[in-house]
Amino acid sequence: MAIIITDECINCGACEPECPNTAIYEGADDWRYADGTSLEGKVVLPNGKEVDADESQEPISDEIYYISPDKCTECKGFHEEPQCAAVCPVDCCVPDDDIVETEEELLGKQRFMHPEE
Ligand code: SF4
Ligand code: SF4
Repeated sequence: MAIIITDECINCGACEPECPNTAIYEGADDWRYADGTSLEGKVVLPNGKEVDADESQEPISDEIYYISPDKCTECKGFHEEPQCAAVCPVDCCVPDDDIVETEEELLGKQRFMHPEE
């Protein structure tokens, strides 16, 4: 499953630079599939969704830091544990029960975004 940031977030910004997938954004900032990945132009994600990797996407939160679930791999392929959760001072980076993925699916996402690694 992806990690989600709860409304207990204090906007400290500690998690953002730790994410190997550039899945974390400051509230009200646009996000892109291309940020910090090898994706560019029109792509079909492993979940079948067709997207333009270079297109700006609407922020998921306007008030607090947020995670793009399509880009979060729970850090699989890079680290043993979610790096955002490891650094968050208020423990508000938690598993999203609504987005459950197998380890294979998470690793597939990671390889799709970073085929060179
Ligand atoms: S779990 Fe890892 S990949 Fe997902 S948002 Fe946190 S740091 Fe990024
Ligand atoms: S580390 Fe935690 S409190 Fe700080 S911005 Fe990230 S989610 Fe919010």
